[in-house]
Amino acid sequence: MNDSRSPRPVASQDAVLARVKSTIRPKIRALTAYPVTKATGMIKLDAMENPYGLSGEARADIAAAVANARINRYPDGGGDDVKAALRRSLALPDDVALVLGNGSDEILQMLTAAVAKPGAVVLSPDPSFVLYRMLADLANLRFAGVPLRADLTLDIDAMLAAIAAERPALVWLAYPNNPTGTLFAAQDIERIIAAAPGVVAVDEAYYAFADTSFLPRVLEFPNLVVVRTLSKVGMAGVRLGYAAAHPAWIAELDKVRPPYNVNALTQAVVPVLLRHDTLLAEQAAAIRRERARMAAALAALRRVTVFPSHANFLLVRVPDAPRWFATLKDAGILVKNVDGWHPLLAGCLRITVGTPAENNALLEALSRYA
Ligand code: PMP
Repeated sequence: MNDSRSPRPVASQDAVLARVKSTIRPKIRALTAYPVTKATGMIKLDAMENPYGLSGEARADIAAAVANARINRYPDGGGDDVKAALRRSLALPDDVALVLGNGSDEILQMLTAAVAKPGAVVLSPDPSFVLYRMLADLANLRFAGVPLRADLTLDIDAMLAAIAAERPALVWLAYPNNPTGTLFAAQDIERIIAAAPGVVAVDEAYYAFADTSFLPRVLEFPNLVVVRTLSKVGMAGVRLGYAAAHPAWIAELDKVRPPYNVNALTQAVVPVLLRHDTLLAEQAAAIRRERARMAAALAALRRVTVFPSHANFLLVRVPDAPRWFATLKDAGILVKNVDGWHPLLAGCLRITVGTPAENNALLEALSRYA
């Protein structure tokens, strides 16, 4: 074969696009991929990460664990060491079962896939985490969003009416909610669980920044799954999420889980990090203190509304969100502009709480502008 003289032909762009169009479902083609903004060199207050690094001791422990990881072998499919470490860290009773995900994104995907009967409905307050709707679309399910009230609190009457009308197979309740930071009332959640004909997933991604949780109550209801992630407490990079529920629910989720979904390096590192959970708890406490300071400082700016937050971010309504976003970006600070995501979020920015220095940089940039 003489490759240089007779190069293989390349399919034309038009031919490829025509084949994509005739093969991929219109609903998928109409989606936009989940946007992840590059933030190299910027103060990153856009993605609800923990801004603090690890201690030298924790890093040395991680290095040793990684050095010993047997990456020539497939990882433990069940992730038993990680589950044992989680059980210890959460003081989880033996009768609550766990399933692990490559981030809680994957747990969300497994739950959606597990309920995906033809005609099934997925329901959630709206606005809430965008992936709930996106995953329903991907699974060819109908998504019913129930608008929050204007003050971004839960409209429980509308929720109960929608549940009666839609009979959803799956209800998502982000507790606290993203992108609003609000915490729905526990009694409202109880009423939703009682009314829902299918499963209710209480998504506690932000549990570390709230004072309450449904995890200790997960076996109290026949249809409750609690979803969590380690992402917001300092481990976004390791990608580990989990669902806790009655073993009967977890057994079904295990069937839709890809066999080796949590990689060997993650499985090596998470138990080590969980041994340092007092450090992570101190960091969460620092973030909560900064949240209070930032909420007061932002509320003191002219024509700025700060919504009460139980998470590690603040939703703020500002006079001109695109301009405020651009001003911050010019100052090297990346936040999330959620203006345009939903009518109730008009004029809103979502600002992750950073370190005191990062937060001061944000206040400084805004005080020059506001
Ligand atoms: N649930 C909620 C409510 C979230 O806000 C997020 C992250 N934005 C996730 C789940 C997914 O987090 P991860 O995949 O990092 O675990």
